[in-house]
Amino acid sequence: MNAAVTTELKTIDHWIGGAAVAGTSGRTGPVYNPATGAQTGEVVLASAEELDRAVSVAREAFTTWRATSLSKRADLFFRIYALFDEHREDLARLLTAEHGKVLSDALGEVQRGLEVIEYVCGIPTLLKGGFSEQAATGIDVYSIRQPLGVVAGITPFNFPAMVPMWMWAPAIACGNAFILKPSEKDPSASTLTAELLKEAGLPDGVFNVIQGDKVAVDAILEHPGIAAVSFVGSTPIARYVYETGTRHGKRVQALGGAKNHMVVLPDADLDMAADAAVSAAYGSAGERCMAVSVVVAVGDSADPLVEAIKQRLPNVKVGDGFDPTSEMGPLVTREHRDKVASYLDSGPEQGATLVADGRETAPDGDGFFLGVSLLDDVTPEMDAYRDEIFGPVLSVVRVPTYDEALRLVNDNPYGNGVALFTRDGGVARAFQFDVNVGMVGINVPIPVPVAYYSFGGWKSSLFGDRHIYGPEGIDFYTRTKAVTSRWPDPATSKVDLGFPQTR
Ligand code: NAD
Repeated sequence: MNAAVTTELKTIDHWIGGAAVAGTSGRTGPVYNPATGAQTGEVVLASAEELDRAVSVAREAFTTWRATSLSKRADLFFRIYALFDEHREDLARLLTAEHGKVLSDALGEVQRGLEVIEYVCGIPTLLKGGFSEQAATGIDVYSIRQPLGVVAGITPFNFPAMVPMWMWAPAIACGNAFILKPSEKDPSASTLTAELLKEAGLPDGVFNVIQGDKVAVDAILEHPGIAAVSFVGSTPIARYVYETGTRHGKRVQALGGAKNHMVVLPDADLDMAADAAVSAAYGSAGERCMAVSVVVAVGDSADPLVEAIKQRLPNVKVGDGFDPTSEMGPLVTREHRDKVASYLDSGPEQGATLVADGRETAPDGDGFFLGVSLLDDVTPEMDAYRDEIFGPVLSVVRVPTYDEALRLVNDNPYGNGVALFTRDGGVARAFQFDVNVGMVGINVPIPVPVAYYSFGGWKSSLFGDRHIYGPEGIDFYTRTKAVTSRWPDPATSKVDLGFPQTR
């Protein structure tokens, strides 16, 4: 037996039409406490029929919800904000219990999600259309934004509260009904989310949760009653979701994986760069799509930078996320921990230098821990560089010049985030101009845009043409309608079979 199994397993159900609904497929998946390795729960896994029921309920709720006035929607979102604010620690504790991230980090996740709710409190302004008076004599033209209908969100394990908030908050504020399919690895935050939305006064059926795996995802992608799908997860699944969803006529935004580089120039403040690299590589055990996974050390910066990073590693406290002294928790599952650790074998086998081996510093016990790990002398051909490791393994690639650093970043198939550390404003400005990456940090290691900008990568980090949340999120969840209108003056009315013209 791998780990202790607690006697009383909690069951995580669907949420349909304003109430928890037991699963009927007969299939379930295990949920673990990654810090102990013990199974703590069982999540029901939906069949296509259960998804179909949620779509019917959402479709019915949509007809009333879309007609709810903007001021009432704004009022409701202020109440939602207040309630989630009050319960931020309850949500964060669920994240720590099932994902493993330390509680302070979980609170940070909730905060970044709350900022998206705050943004959509301004929904009356965000949905303003355009108006052209007298486009032709006596004719006005205006555009209005309307919701799409029933829309779905499919989310990854690494942000079980925030990424769903990025989706449901703008989708619902825009007047859509929403179905969330959370990660089956840490599903409990979705239930608390549903309960809080109901308590805030959201009408039943506007927000629904279908727990599940590939069966539920495929049912969403093929269901004719779902108009749009937002997806966040790994690149192979993002590509699959985009191709399958669009083939079934849906609007799809699918955000994928990442390999985020942090380029350090010789003129940078190397202590500041080392602090940033350690924070951004090992925060949340490297399980962030915006984690720094490669430091690109340019020229003379390499030796002192690697030394400065190395010196900081013994101070990173790894432990149970509920221990307030812990800075880094476990990985999400045993399988994922073992996969991440495998790069500490393949890296040196392929020529990298293992500077810090997290297998030696991981806490004892059955938890899915791996300590902070550092590979130096990594080259672009190695697996440690090519794969998204998604764990606490930082690679250092040494390059002689800025131009080579830029080429390395631009040649990488991913384009989610990138950071440049320098004191040279001219180089920074050129970098921002030339780099083929969607989110850029200048002396900022994790450049997640604030809620009133939009989040998204380029290349294999995003499939679709709309980034998530912010103004592009409002665009994604609405379609525009242009109305051409005339209130005829009976005195000028006549028959005219010519093509309508404005001149
Ligand atoms: P994942 O792709 O394994 O799973 C994401 C979702 O897809 C889950 O809900 C899962 O149930 C579902 N899924 C998994 N396999 C499937 C399949 N074969 N068919 C259909 N659906 C399937 O991702 P994950 O491991 O949960 O999350 C980590 C990944 O997400 C990393 O690659 C990370 O970079 C990425 N991520 C990206 C962003 C971003 O904004 N670009 C943000 C967070 C996470």
